[in-house]
Amino acid sequence: MKAAPFAYVRPSSLSDAIAELANTDGGGKVIAGGQSLAPVLAMRLARPDTLIDINSVEGLDAMAVSGDHVEIGATVRQRRVERDALSGAVPLLRMALPWIGHRELRSRGTVCGSLAHADPAAELPAVACCLDAEFTLSGPNGDRRVRAREFFAGAMTTALRPDEILTSVRLPVAGAGEGFGFAEIARRHGDFALAGIVAKVRLRASRPEATLTAFGVSDRPVTRDVSEQLSTALAARGDAPGDAVREQLTAVTEEMVDTDGDAHASKNYRRRLLLTLAGRELSKAYERALKGAGEVGT
Ligand SMILES: Cc1cc2nc3c(=O)[nH]c(=O)nc-3n(C[C@H](O)[C@H](O)[C@H](O)COP(=O)(O)OP(=O)(O)OC[C@H]3O[C@@H](n4cnc5c(N)ncnc54)[C@H](O)[C@@H]3O)c2cc1C
Repeated sequence: MKAAPFAYVRPSSLSDAIAELANTDGGGKVIAGGQSLAPVLAMRLARPDTLIDINSVEGLDAMAVSGDHVEIGATVRQRRVERDALSGAVPLLRMALPWIGHRELRSRGTVCGSLAHADPAAELPAVACCLDAEFTLSGPNGDRRVRAREFFAGAMTTALRPDEILTSVRLPVAGAGEGFGFAEIARRHGDFALAGIVAKVRLRASRPEATLTAFGVSDRPVTRDVSEQLSTALAARGDAPGDAVREQLTAVTEEMVDTDGDAHASKNYRRRLLLTLAGRELSKAYERALKGAGEVGT
């Protein structure tokens, strides 16, 4: 099948891109890398009357560390982030990016495109939620900032209004005493995940803070605070929580899976996968936090 006919514009400034999108009165779509949108058009799952190509928009291809975060513009390719030294400041980007499709797709696909597309099994939305990244959405009424955990509203559904462009994402730079984990299971490398987990641990003088975000198991990334579960496991096993963490996570990971299952995996299979991945990655995140511990806050 071929895409239905559409008009195509390639503005060179953000104000023009916003005006072009507004002119379509909800019938237009932004195209960035096209790695998700082109197949959607070819299958006629969407029939936008105009495509607004943002690849020539000045300033959207920037990536920089600023203060306590890394900011990635809307046309920055996934592959560039994977290879850029700056992404070392956000270890989860380096861990997650190689799992997205294949290198050729990542050479074209953008970080912000993946976030805007909001596939429930995609890696980057889960990373953004675990870190509670901040998104800048630009529209005719100016910019607004939305936290990742409020951005994803369901499968392929986000807080973006039809006349808004996701112009950048800000991810916090990893600090001393923080450790991370990432894992997913897919049938073949490059496929979307059957289940995946992102873990973050932050050591505090009182007790560690721990966050898990699951993907591929609901209509959006699912984030839970598991500080209590980690502390209980540490109380039982000292600094090597191992199997005790897994035991503690049984109830929470069961509750995080709310898909009914599909042709690829049942609900129970996904629950078992998620529990195994969560236990393993939370333990690793804790060990990495211990290794990287410098000044630890109260
Ligand atoms: C074979 C194959 C395997 C894949 N495997 C994976 C995988 O394992 N994991 C994964 O996460 N992804 C996977 N993808 C998708 C790929 O990573 C895409 O690059 C990504 O989802 C979208 O990025 P893009 O820049 O290509 O966006 P596009 O395809 O250009 O756009 C996708 C959607 O987001 C909207 N959009 C894009 N940018 C913006 C913006 N700045 N503001 C507002 N709206 C915007 C578009 O209107 C469109 O609706 C796969 C794709 C293919 C074809």
